[in-house]
Amino acid sequence: DLTGRNVLVTGSTSGIGKGIAIGLANAGCNVMINGLGLPEEIETFRLELEKTSGRKIIYSNADLTNPSEIDTMFDVFKEAFGDIHGVINNAGIQHIAPIEDFPTEKWDQILSLNLSSIFHTTRLAFSEMKARNWGRIINISSAHGLTASPFKSAYVTAKHGVMGFTKTAALEGAEFGIRVNAICPGYVHTPLVDNQIQATAKARNLEIDEVIKTVMLDRQPTKEFTTIEEIARMTCFLMSDAANSITGADIKMEGGWTAL
Ligand code: NAD
Repeated sequence: DLTGRNVLVTGSTSGIGKGIAIGLANAGCNVMINGLGLPEEIETFRLELEKTSGRKIIYSNADLTNPSEIDTMFDVFKEAFGDIHGVINNAGIQHIAPIEDFPTEKWDQILSLNLSSIFHTTRLAFSEMKARNWGRIINISSAHGLTASPFKSAYVTAKHGVMGFTKTAALEGAEFGIRVNAICPGYVHTPLVDNQIQATAKARNLEIDEVIKTVMLDRQPTKEFTTIEEIARMTCFLMSDAANSITGADIKMEGGWTAL
């Protein structure tokens, strides 16, 4: 039961983040959602979640590649909720290209969103969490935080960076009741992965079904996608007091990918 905890879930207008926001709200949290998308669709989601969960749900349209928008997002959070108990750093994007063709602006954008934004949100939440002697930072990393694949140089680099940051923040927060962990999912069937399936099919001249079987789930021994609900439930657990001894951890939810 997470009643009364105030959390921010970045990139929660779609996919995994949206599922985490729903899971946390239903477990009792007040939630700030964030992400890009059509304002009317986001507002419909916000109202619906408020109704079904009975919690306060607010929305920030901050573009997390811009640190000053992250600052503003935190001002709004504090104004609306007061204390911040949890930050779920989930927003992330992918781009697939060989290194020699990788657009430099895509590299910068991926490093900025998938990695630097996590530093900024943690930086802004930390002193208050330290003062209160309780806090949770949960970073949605990836199997690609632990192992590489070709053509994903920026993403793999950023996600490996997330693992280093997770461990460092865990050490700095350890004696202040702050727990910092990374969840490393394998493939999850979200819009992000759907785009990759299309792009890989095009790049390798394969059918969609073939891409799913022979490329996507080739390295996931279970041959099953990790589900959004599984990640949402793990996030709720890490938010709870029962997870007090877990910090600096990589929680692998990749169907055995990195055991290969
Ligand atoms: P998604 O594309 O469905 O959702 C991404 C979210 O990030 C959206 O809400 C989007 O609006 C938001 N976003 C994008 N750019 C933003 C910006 N500049 N500022 C603020 N928000 C922005 O993706 P997803 O598959 O749900 O991925 C979520 C996270 O999970 C990512 O960090 C991703 O790397 C990670 N992940 C995904 C998978 C997978 O297979 N889908 C596997 C491992 C890890």
